[in-house]
Amino acid sequence: MIPYGKQNITQADIDAVVDTLTSDWLTQGPKVEQFEQALCAFTGSRHAVAVNSATSALHIACLALGLGEGDSLWTSPNTFVASANCALYCGAEVDFVDIDPATYNMSTSALQQKLESADKLGKLPKIVAPVHFAGQSCDMQVIHELSQQYGFHIIEDASHAIGAKYQNHPVGDCRYCDITIFSFHPVKIITTGEGGAATTNQPELAEKMRRLRSHGVTRDQALFTQPADGAWSYQQIELGFNYRITDIQCALGLSQMRRLDQFIQQRKRRAARYDTLLKDVAVTLPARSDFAESSWHLYVVKLTQCDAKARRSVFDRMRDAGIGVNIHYIPVHTQPWYKAMGFRDKDFPEAINYYQCCLSLPMFPDLDDDQQQYIADSLRSALQSI
Ligand SMILES: *Cc1c(COP(=O)(O)O)cnc(C)c1O
Repeated sequence: MIPYGKQNITQADIDAVVDTLTSDWLTQGPKVEQFEQALCAFTGSRHAVAVNSATSALHIACLALGLGEGDSLWTSPNTFVASANCALYCGAEVDFVDIDPATYNMSTSALQQKLESADKLGKLPKIVAPVHFAGQSCDMQVIHELSQQYGFHIIEDASHAIGAKYQNHPVGDCRYCDITIFSFHPVKIITTGEGGAATTNQPELAEKMRRLRSHGVTRDQALFTQPADGAWSYQQIELGFNYRITDIQCALGLSQMRRLDQFIQQRKRRAARYDTLLKDVAVTLPARSDFAESSWHLYVVKLTQCDAKARRSVFDRMRDAGIGVNIHYIPVHTQPWYKAMGFRDKDFPEAINYYQCCLSLPMFPDLDDDQQQYIADSLRSALQSI
């Protein structure tokens, strides 16, 4: 089976991990900080906080921005459930903004309309969390202008998008947001096994997220709320978690960072080749925004003649041919947990239309020419037989 995504691990990665295993530190040692510094250097952000998953990073980002009961977070329905669940962890409510039918990202015009009506009802969100779907940035300057007008915070869920650019600047520089989130799960652009990070330019948010990553405990006497018992003292001043990432994982992450530019180039080349191979196939190819350069986490096509039955048949035929096609995403608001909160399928019709026709083709740096040719040929014949 050709998988839809796959990590690239070299001997240098293995050596880096083995070196750490034989060092003094398996966790909370020098590699975590080095990895964070490498993320800052790459993105141009001032601070980076590495944690054990992007899901954890989303959770502590929401908490750092003060999200709690009575508040709401808005995200895209076309995402992984973690982008929305983070708000529920904080006791807040979730709502969605429908997608742009061309880019499959959160629609900025739908956002503007929803903000106008929410403003009238006094129900503005505390946080908007746009998702850079497939690695292509949302139009952050527009979302940032709306945040100034309506007074909300922004978390960019850039789980797909390390190495991507917006207006020629790296995603993660936090020019137009409070916090950016990355994922280092093996199917994403670089991996630490499991892992994630938050970048920010605001020192108080970084400090708060560092504390929440490790139980809400501080050793900084200036923050103590009781007299210190002695030099051994640490004090828990809020409720945090164990969301720490290990030095073993960060050694892998650091080693992977050295090939990040190469990974993006390989993915770009694969995307361009799919464009050529699929030119005369009955699918809509991924749209490119003129303000963004995608990291090409996913290569998603939309079947042009499509309904739920046709898509299922194409999906099954591709899987039968040994091609690990996938669907990104089942709209979050249609999940049973969210339906129980009152969401209905038709609430976000563009996300539903897109969902019924989308198909993610295999995309990873080591995909080769023959495999891509086989995938394109198989897709053509699968479409002809429906
Ligand atoms: C993968 C992913 C996450 C969660 O990442 P983990 O590191 O697995 O927790 C969150 N949001 C999006 C959009 C993702 O693709």
